[in-house]
Amino acid sequence: MNDIQIIENLRQMQTFSESQRLAGKTIALVPTMGYLHAGHLSLIEKGRERGNPVIISIFVNPTQFGPGEDLDKYPQSFEKDVEMAQKHGAHVVFAPQKDALYPPDYQTFVALERLPAHLCGISRPVHFRGVATIVTKLFNIVKPHVAVFGEKDFQQLLVIRQMVRDLNFDIEIVGAPIVRESDGLAMSSRNAYLNDGQRKSATSLFQSLKAAQALVAQGIFDSRRIIDAAEAVITSYPETKIDYIRLCDPENLEAVESVKGQALLALAVKIGTTRLIDNMILTS
Ligand code: AMP
Repeated sequence: MNDIQIIENLRQMQTFSESQRLAGKTIALVPTMGYLHAGHLSLIEKGRERGNPVIISIFVNPTQFGPGEDLDKYPQSFEKDVEMAQKHGAHVVFAPQKDALYPPDYQTFVALERLPAHLCGISRPVHFRGVATIVTKLFNIVKPHVAVFGEKDFQQLLVIRQMVRDLNFDIEIVGAPIVRESDGLAMSSRNAYLNDGQRKSATSLFQSLKAAQALVAQGIFDSRRIIDAAEAVITSYPETKIDYIRLCDPENLEAVESVKGQALLALAVKIGTTRLIDNMILTS
């Protein structure tokens, strides 16, 4: 097994990456908030297909959490994460300190005009500003050629792709498919919050996407009918509270009336106090 290097210091990270670039290496970055699961590991695998070294960042980014969200209780397991990252062939864990990234006089943010006005951006108004800001900072510190993001956070992936185009980052953005538990629940660090009953209710997200997919397979393309069917599945489980279910254009997230070609069915549901998201591309 390769030795894995842990880097905390920002300058040290930049120097490491600069030397890798000078040696002609292709740097792949996998940004995460830690508490790693198989979804994160699939991103490392993708990173290994595209580059060497693979650098996985672990940082619970405070600026993407709104007031009253779960920043203070976000699960952490640093030693286990390092072990898992090493086992799956990552070369470096970049684990910066909060105060180094956001010193007291910090005042610069990256905000997109339109994409955050949809889906998760409505109930989490500062979220994508925080995401775009931290990813910009990670890009400047890690200097990757390639960065890998999961399609589970579909809106985030669009935000990053847009930001990279708009700000001329010379970085290839690679999307990775959603990794699921055997019962279909999308893997998420936040699944750790669920008790047994809630864990059962959490399967309703994928069940509802499957129900929608079955309708489309029967030739039912109307947005209202698809969303109603998805909603019926979710509300049939206890402790579920729908934040949103939307059928939208997978490129700009504008709502669509029906599935014509490809449409994104995206949803966010609270199970007890835990907010989970999932999505599926539906094809007519
Ligand atoms: P997080 O640590 O939750 O911020 O996620 C870090 C990265 O892993 C993001 O690009 C996520 O989209 C991705 N990710 C999280 N869960 C999954 C999953 N179940 N399948 C694929 N990618 C995932």
